[in-house]
Amino acid sequence: MSKTLQAIRGMNDILPADGALWLYLEDTARRIFEQYGYRFVRMPIVENTALFVRGIGEATDVVEKEMYTFEDGPSKEKESLTLRPEATAGIVRAAIEHNLTYERGQRVWTHGAMFRHERPQKGRYRQFYQLDVEALDFAGPDVDAEQIVLLARLWKELGLTDAVRLKINTIGDQNDRRAYRETLITYFSRYPEQLDDDSRRRLHRNPLRILDSKNPAMQTLIENAPRMLDHINPDARTHFEALQALLRQAGIDFEIDTRLVRGLDYYNRTVFEWVTDRLGAQGTVAGGGRYDGLFELLGGKSTPACGFAAGIERLILLLQERKTECSDAPAIYLVFQGDEVVAFAWRVAETLRNEGYALTLNAGGGNFKSQMKKADASGARIALILGDDEAHSRTITVKWLRDTDKTQHTGEQERVSAAELGRWLKAHGV
Ligand code: ATP
Ligand code: MG
Repeated sequence: MSKTLQAIRGMNDILPADGALWLYLEDTARRIFEQYGYRFVRMPIVENTALFVRGIGEATDVVEKEMYTFEDGPSKEKESLTLRPEATAGIVRAAIEHNLTYERGQRVWTHGAMFRHERPQKGRYRQFYQLDVEALDFAGPDVDAEQIVLLARLWKELGLTDAVRLKINTIGDQNDRRAYRETLITYFSRYPEQLDDDSRRRLHRNPLRILDSKNPAMQTLIENAPRMLDHINPDARTHFEALQALLRQAGIDFEIDTRLVRGLDYYNRTVFEWVTDRLGAQGTVAGGGRYDGLFELLGGKSTPACGFAAGIERLILLLQERKTECSDAPAIYLVFQGDEVVAFAWRVAETLRNEGYALTLNAGGGNFKSQMKKADASGARIALILGDDEAHSRTITVKWLRDTDKTQHTGEQERVSAAELGRWLKAHGV
């Protein structure tokens, strides 16, 4: 026997037991995104490496060490390609390429697999899925607030409101950041012995990222660092205050976290994160902000924009912790036996599906006992039973398998005429 093959570490299978929960989350998100006027887009999973290097920034964790990059093409014209580590850069690339914001701003969303070469652990994988929302060519702060309000609604619908909290900050504009960078370098340089290896490496390349360090030994040093909030220009400050006013007006609780900088380079002004305490170190379930400079950085014309990404696996973990029940198993399972019954059974099944019902039609034959076992294991609420008797009298025996709605029918069975079946099911809440 040949050796069995296994999935790649950090790349997970989503199996039927979890499928319904994934769809529930994605369907709920889709409905809410559409309620706010965001339209669906889907970009390629593979892009030119340069897009991410330029867009995300050379001195970020993602570009420095997490990208899946490979060469493609005939030897003379090899190109460097990368599996997307996030969705924003691809969407902005497409928006520039297709002149999407030529006439007006565009609200778009997508979801799908992202790839980062990280150390796999609970809530952190190498192939993971994100919901991604972007408002292109909107200067804000109204769309910044809109996206936060939209997420608050998503948490509410998912029953996660009390599992997450919102942190916001402003990181000013490019010039503010340039000056703040110097301030930070001066500050951190005064304490070289307190910096860990990562921070020493980042000191001159990307000192803002030091603020994002999770190393407990560095927390006091970071807490006492000069605050970005004290170094931003008046317009950025007004923007931030307007955002807060909109959030208060919408009844959204938030905390200003002056150390929140986010991992990717392209952000400016508004940054926000929704965090949870229930997933250990993998506490951020959604993060986003404004990236007014990204279009230009990628060769487009200056276009203000704001967006966020939410990690689907982390949300699934929270939903599972909440014991959120979901099923995609049909409520009806049809068992049948007898040569003359086959055509009748198929007709009944298709007729019910015409009426919008979902049902599993037994496949592979077997006696009634073994078919009923399968019906029970499928999770269906009722079994429809068709034998020769039923076929001759054009009736169906209906048997209740479990009481999901507490109607106490379990075990009961009755005969229903085939013509009446749809109405009967509806009347009984199936
Ligand atoms: P973290 O600090 O946890 O590494 P990040 O800042 O790198 O997160 P973003 O690039 O902002 O993450 O991605 C947005 C969201 O996508 C995160 O908040 C998280 O929920 C999810 N996410 C990011 N990386 C992973 C991963 N490797 N596995 C699972 N989910 C992830
Ligand atoms: Mg990360």
